Amino acid sequence: MANVVIAGGGAAGMMAAVRAAERGHQVTLLEQNEKLGKKIYITGKGRCNLTNGCDTEDIFPQFQSNPRFLYSSIYTFDNFRVMDFFEQHGVKLKEERGQRIFPVSDHASDVIRALSQYLRQLGVKVCLETKLTGIRTEDGAVKAVTTLHLPGKEKKTLPADALILAGGGCSYPQTGADGNLFGLCEDLGHTVKPLRPALVPLTVKEDYIPQMMGLSLKNVILTIRDKKKICYEEFGEMLFTHFGVSGPLVLSASSRIRECSEKKPLSAEIDLKPALDEEKLDKRLQRMISEGANKQFKNLIQGLLPAKMLPVVIRLSGIDPEKKGNAITKEERTGLLRLLKAFPFTITGTRGFSEAIITRGGISVKEVDPSTMESKIIKGMYFAGEMLDIDALTGGFNLQAAWSTGYLAGESV
Ligand SMILES: Cc1cc2nc3c(=O)[nH]c(=O)nc-3n(C[C@H](O)[C@H](O)[C@H](O)COP(=O)(O)OP(=O)(O)OC[C@H]3O[C@@H](n4cnc5c(N)ncnc54)[C@H](O)[C@@H]3O)c2cc1C
Repeated sequence: MANVVIAGGGAAGMMAAVRAAERGHQVTLLEQNEKLGKKIYITGKGRCNLTNGCDTEDIFPQFQSNPRFLYSSIYTFDNFRVMDFFEQHGVKLKEERGQRIFPVSDHASDVIRALSQYLRQLGVKVCLETKLTGIRTEDGAVKAVTTLHLPGKEKKTLPADALILAGGGCSYPQTGADGNLFGLCEDLGHTVKPLRPALVPLTVKEDYIPQMMGLSLKNVILTIRDKKKICYEEFGEMLFTHFGVSGPLVLSASSRIRECSEKKPLSAEIDLKPALDEEKLDKRLQRMISEGANKQFKNLIQGLLPAKMLPVVIRLSGIDPEKKGNAITKEERTGLLRLLKAFPFTITGTRGFSEAIITRGGISVKEVDPSTMESKIIKGMYFAGEMLDIDALTGGFNLQAAWSTGYLAGESV
């Protein structure tokens, strides 16, 4: 029986503690917050999309970095085993759009409660408001850890035969995922791949975007180009905000595009009328203009687009809003058509970690054994969850990775 210390009481750390304790180890779970699983509470808008019901092999393409690294962990504790685990521990599950799995109750708290109860049953020692602040090694192996009890600032040294690091990434730092463990890992010789916000809203250059703040567009195609090359193109839903764009299409795009800035921007366009090809849309515009031959442009265009978009489209079209329909030229109509099929804007970057659903980057997976999650640098030190350089799109895949890597680390100690 080994003395196992786990740092981080999120999804990965709790699952690691469960598995290590099931295997008969003496487990201490350290969590710097006053309660376990603070981030899980806010997942899936408080409903916790805990995994996905797709075929297991279809999980891997959802990962934007290092999917192959996850083969062992995901096949050891796959999405169906995750579902069985929670059902066996009293959380009834249901499948929704995109095969997303949620508790029937729609309460993320049920997931945390199930894990906490089982940890108690297994005799795991849970130390809340306790932060891991140091790792002592001997001959390249973990020997002991330093803990800091936060209210009293009391320091303690705990002997450890094995240590599982599950401190999360840097996104939503108010949940405790503040990236504090990366420095300790670098001190021990690990490489931390650049940490960047992902599944995050994007900032935009043009001032006309914030003018449409709050407007949500459904059934549009968002295309993003790096010079001429298309780097993202999807159909769905997006939203204009006070700084740029957000919503499902934009969040997925943020995980697929390269890093950008005001100096190295990316160009984007929205097809506002994807159901109509240019010919059909042109016919519709001709009809609209001829039916409104005696109306001013600003009036005849009503109904073509959501009200919040009209002033912007009118301005960008360059057509005098007072102009009568019968005076609109073919060139002007063609310009309007282009705007509707490719409404342009420029992406200048992402919002910060406080708005990012996940973190891209983290502990380099080259330095971690994928079949055990053990560090290749420090014996007896393991990694699990978002600390690793892995990130997936939305749909329950990020939590699946946390459960699987946590389980495998707990299984391997
Ligand atoms: C708003 C939001 C919604 C999301 N929704 C979904 C969803 O529906 N489905 C999905 O699959 N994914 C979702 N995610 C992503 C998912 O929540 C994370 O990928 C997952 O929680 C990562 O688990 P983790 O255990 O690795 O890290 P975390 O859950 O971040 O847990 C890390 C824990 O470690 C603790 N800690 C850190 N340092 C120390 C230390 N030194 N000592 C002690 N404790 C420490 C932290 O306090 C924290 O509790 C969402 C994320 C956000 C922000």
